[in-house]
Amino acid sequence: MARRTIVTESPAEAAEYLNKGDIVAFPTETVYGLGADITNETAVGKIFRAKGRPGDNPLIVHLASPEQVDEVATDVPDSARLLMARFFPGPLTLVLRKRPGVSSLVTAGLSTIGVRCPNHPVAHEFLARCLHPVAAPSANLSGRPSSTDWKAVLEDLDGRIACILKGEKSSIGLESTIVDCSEEPPRILRAGAISPEELHTIVPNIAIARGGKQERPKSPGLKYRHYSPSAEIRLCGEEYGACEGGKGFAWIGLSPPPEGAARTCRCRDSEEYAYRMFRFFRECDREGIGVICCEMPPPEGIGQALRDRLQRAAERK
Ligand code: AMP
Ligand code: MG
Repeated sequence: MARRTIVTESPAEAAEYLNKGDIVAFPTETVYGLGADITNETAVGKIFRAKGRPGDNPLIVHLASPEQVDEVATDVPDSARLLMARFFPGPLTLVLRKRPGVSSLVTAGLSTIGVRCPNHPVAHEFLARCLHPVAAPSANLSGRPSSTDWKAVLEDLDGRIACILKGEKSSIGLESTIVDCSEEPPRILRAGAISPEELHTIVPNIAIARGGKQERPKSPGLKYRHYSPSAEIRLCGEEYGACEGGKGFAWIGLSPPPEGAARTCRCRDSEEYAYRMFRFFRECDREGIGVICCEMPPPEGIGQALRDRLQRAAERK
């Protein structure tokens, strides 16, 4: 297992590794993904082992083009077709009814399957050279902040995966919006770069998921600790109060930084906050910083997804 991980800029070389049953990290516009051939259960199993991912947390299937959706899903409703026409390729995952032939390892035993088509030229070239659709969660150790550049992938997964396809930093920096279209009305399961307002312009009756931990969550991964650096995350801002970091704390947000912060990251807007956040968390860990104060952004546009990730990163178990 402790093989060296090779880093390549060639989508063709990366696809060769994947096609022969290895797992490969690749860039997308949201975060880096860790992919396996969906028709190869041994390869899919390697993803769970490499990440330390619980087996009941399903993987999102990545497609080279929207037409591939019918290879993995069945009974695709009109709502999903409309959303695909508008947002594929892009940072949107649709949950659909799974085709019986698709391994239940990919979907963690669910009868539904999450599909996405990344809007990223390198990802597209890679996926187009893969023989089948590619199951891929984020390319980080389970629980850690998602990887938004290839160095973060190497930091977490060196020696655990065969290959990293090197690209630019992920331009969005947060995971996709997930919409469950397997039932009527469709429902947002996870906030992401595409806001509810944008979704509603195409399908007006999409519901917004209830918060809280359900007994049998529709989106099982949501019950686990997620997105967390080793440093403690403390939320601050209007509804959360002043930033209280103690000695040598770090701070990220939109306002002028507080006095006494050892490391700060002031962002122009929520888009830049999303782009920088996970990388900032990792930088703070490398420096041994104990507390990161995070200013809550306003709940508009990608701000809603940021708030969701920050709240979950701040949970301590
Ligand atoms: P990750 O790619 O690591 O951000 O994780 C993928 C997430 O997508 C999972 O944790 C689930 O929350 C969600 N997901 C994937 N497939 C399904 C599905 N069939 N039904 C509901 N949620 C899903
Ligand atoms: Mg993840």
